[in-house]
Amino acid sequence: MARYTGATCRQCRREGMKLFLKGDRCYTDKCAFARRGYAPGQHGKSRKKLSNYGLQLREKQKTRRIYGVLEGQFRRYYEKADKMRGITGENLLKLLEMRLDNVIYRLGFGTSRNEARQLVNHGHFLVNGKKVDIASYKVSVNDVIGVREKSRGTEKFKMFAENPKTLPNWLGGSVENFEGKVVAEPSREDIDVSVNETLIVELYSK
Ligand code: SF4
Repeated sequence: MARYTGATCRQCRREGMKLFLKGDRCYTDKCAFARRGYAPGQHGKSRKKLSNYGLQLREKQKTRRIYGVLEGQFRRYYEKADKMRGITGENLLKLLEMRLDNVIYRLGFGTSRNEARQLVNHGHFLVNGKKVDIASYKVSVNDVIGVREKSRGTEKFKMFAENPKTLPNWLGGSVENFEGKVVAEPSREDIDVSVNETLIVELYSK
């Protein structure tokens, strides 16, 4: 599976904000953006004012990076969102939120989406009792997501269960018992990512 293999923190510096791609490290003073909060490269410190197109492009790149989705796949999400009923930008975010790797992260099994994606790829989770190891798998309302029996005893999963996160409104279940449930589709208010999805729609509808 293709994925971004460059320096992770560089992406935050490029977007001019913390994207929280490295889990716990992002909350420490080792955070590269906290230490060098300007764009990478020779001219990073002297960034010019962005054009409208530049703003739209950056918003799309930022969103893509937050969810760890490559260009082609992101565009396919947009095309799907555009065909759905409702507001395209919100539909786009909803589709991204309902990826299995994001749901795993939201449930608290993973300190970052990257880690959650890796855990999914390694086959630690079941959806409705069946193993699913595809990070982009789209969950549906009423899906039950569980940790495989043999993974529950590992130090990592014990740590997740002992430190449960506050769940968003659209997810339920009990992380302490290694299980979560999709109780509703996420609404825009439930999605706490700091992006302006309208700019992405403007970019793609040119
Ligand atoms: Fe971004 Fe986290 Fe790296 Fe800081 S530590 S620059 S928030 S990925």
